[in-house]
Amino acid sequence: MNFLKRFSVLSVMMLVAVTMMAQELPKVYILATGGTIAGSGSSATKSNYSAGQVAIGTLLDAVPAINDVAYVEGEQVVNIGSQDMSDDVWLVLAKRVNELIASQKVNGIVITHGTDTMEETAFFLSLVTDSNIPIVLVGAMRPSTAISADGPVNLYNAVVTAASPASMGRGVLVCMNGKVYGAADVTKTNTTSVETFQSPNSGALGYIHNGEVFYYHAPDRVGRKFVDHVHEGTLFNEVRTPYFNIDGLKSLPKVGIAYGYSSVEGDVVDMMIDKHYKGIVYAGVGNGNIHKNVFPELEKARKDGIIVVRSSRVPTGATTLDAEVDDNKYEFVASWGLNPQKARILLMLALTKTDDWKTIQKYFNNY
Ligand code: GLU
Repeated sequence: MNFLKRFSVLSVMMLVAVTMMAQELPKVYILATGGTIAGSGSSATKSNYSAGQVAIGTLLDAVPAINDVAYVEGEQVVNIGSQDMSDDVWLVLAKRVNELIASQKVNGIVITHGTDTMEETAFFLSLVTDSNIPIVLVGAMRPSTAISADGPVNLYNAVVTAASPASMGRGVLVCMNGKVYGAADVTKTNTTSVETFQSPNSGALGYIHNGEVFYYHAPDRVGRKFVDHVHEGTLFNEVRTPYFNIDGLKSLPKVGIAYGYSSVEGDVVDMMIDKHYKGIVYAGVGNGNIHKNVFPELEKARKDGIIVVRSSRVPTGATTLDAEVDDNKYEFVASWGLNPQKARILLMLALTKTDDWKTIQKYFNNY
């Protein structure tokens, strides 16, 4: 009896101690959206599987070591393959992220996500959240049922990254394959490899080793009030692009992307003019160059009040202002380092504030 009494007192004390330890750990909140990290297939060796099958609780159960680095809670926002990501889901997700930030109850947020559009969601969130706490997107290239599934280690590394004070003030991050990337420059570069994510212009921000995140540098644009760079004799030092407040937003203006190629015809743009798109991003060749078959359609679009952004199908470098195309003359906007899919996002958000092309160019100069 005495033994039993002592045993139960001991267990209560241990429980209190464990609870206190858990409370001292950073709090990381997981928002799950689906993707391969939540995918399951019938074979451990073949690549056919369905994304978005496994719920967040099951993912966390597979990585008990996470409980040593953070006190983790989570919820399922959606459970989709990220090829089906939409502006509507972005708005729901971003509003939930902003609620968590405002609650001041979490030290970091992890978002599990399919890899196909992860870079877009990361960039969208980076423009609509204003916080120092780490917001980390993570996914996997192999489903949870595959040999050497990369999801568990990626999830562990993402929680490590989100829980670390070293990650504060670095904006929205993508954590994949042992590395950490900034939202503006990261892109998916390989259809199947686990080392698919790269930041081709700026490189990774850091890496994770033995449960710790190490940084090489901060993302250029985060935490800076002014962005100074000289381009062809002009000093760009305007105030950086503001965060876009999405509180009252129910939808985003319609912006589409037209892709440039040899022999392309104006039809690629006509559909968007006819359907009253508010903006068109042209994924041009080279430095955002536009085929002579399409140029008149884009001029027409601009005359109809549509904002035209020149970006490039080339994976590295920037689409620079007034290069082979005289942007000032045609009232076109140059996307600088944003690839077409990210240029679309900044243009949608910019259009919620203004339809003045010069102001929108400033947003692109300083995003
Ligand atoms: N297409 C799916 C998605 O993006 C699976 C790809 C992945 O997550 O790697 O969600």
